[in-house]
Amino acid sequence: MRRGGPEPPPGLVSRLRGVARGDQAEKVIARCGGCRRPCCRLESLVIELDWPRLRALWGIEEAREAFDRRLARGEGPPEIRAEGDMYYAHGSVCPAFRDGRCAVYDTPTKPPGCTDFPVYEDEGRLVADLRCEAVDPDEVEARLLSAFPPPARLRRRPDRRFPFLVRWTVWGE
Ligand code: SF4
Ligand code: SF4
Repeated sequence: MRRGGPEPPPGLVSRLRGVARGDQAEKVIARCGGCRRPCCRLESLVIELDWPRLRALWGIEEAREAFDRRLARGEGPPEIRAEGDMYYAHGSVCPAFRDGRCAVYDTPTKPPGCTDFPVYEDEGRLVADLRCEAVDPDEVEARLLSAFPPPARLRRRPDRRFPFLVRWTVWGE
């Protein structure tokens, strides 16, 4: 969901996504197999799930209304909370994390947030999540500099609320 402000130019968005994809492919995915704190354990990460994904990943057989009532009574999976139209999972290993791998990796069941983590474009900025041990913000910045050479300029800032997130703004191309 957009937080307001003008739409970022599509060209900028697509180039930032290219930088994010490059970092994920070359730096992150190669490290996942030996990761000391896999994000899929959901110890520090929260994943956002729509109902079809929650149902598929947690193997829920009842109808949504019945599940919501059970959750509201405190009888649902303790790692799941509902908010608005969505569900959030935290504090227990994702059921799709088996033998150190994602069992739904290349399927529509994989939540978009899992695909984005840990480097992604967000509203015309690039974001890196330092909770992933494979993320090196200096390397990400070097990629950005190569994709956006001068006269473009970069500004790097930690997120005010979540200091483990680093954001880059590009301007002046
Ligand atoms: S935290 Fe990073 S390196 Fe570890 S499993 Fe997740 S994406 Fe891979
Ligand atoms: S769906 Fe896959 S990538 Fe996402 S948390 Fe679960 S195991 Fe990890």
